[in-house]
Amino acid sequence: MALERTLSIIKPDATRRNLTGAINALLEAAGLRIIAQKRLRLSEARAKEFYAVHKERLFYSDLVKFMTSGPVVVQVLEGEDAVLLNRKVMGATDPALAVEGTIRKTFAESIEANSVHGSDSPDNAKIEIEFFFSQDEIVG
Ligand code: ADP
Ligand code: MG
Repeated sequence: MALERTLSIIKPDATRRNLTGAINALLEAAGLRIIAQKRLRLSEARAKEFYAVHKERLFYSDLVKFMTSGPVVVQVLEGEDAVLLNRKVMGATDPALAVEGTIRKTFAESIEANSVHGSDSPDNAKIEIEFFFSQDEIVG
């Protein structure tokens, strides 16, 4: 077990439905600490850059449109094995396949509007945290 940090994003479908607090409660109940958090609106350029790994996928342009459609809340989460733990709390990408009690099973509207993002590896977590936060905004 290792103390890790991961990047989380509460997506526009969730901020629209006023679910920031409900999602944060599930993260905290799982043992993740929110050590940085801010609400912002992604520009098209920033959303494209963030999701650049998916640029060849058919859903890429719709995903960028969705992620810029309203405010997001970006967060740094800290905890033991935070990257994997957060992925477990989030649930599967497709809410129809997500386990009961996960954020996506509970709140997601669709495979696209699935309420949360979470880094998929410690290396990507570091890159994604630096994409949104400066060191002095993270208070562990
Ligand atoms: P995850 O967010 O679980 O890591 P991916 O990295 O594969 O999933 O995809 C990034 C995001 O792209 C998903 O969270 C979802 O919003 C969207 N997405 C993934 N697959 C699809 C799909 N088949 N159709 C529409 N949107 C999708
Ligand atoms: Mg992913």
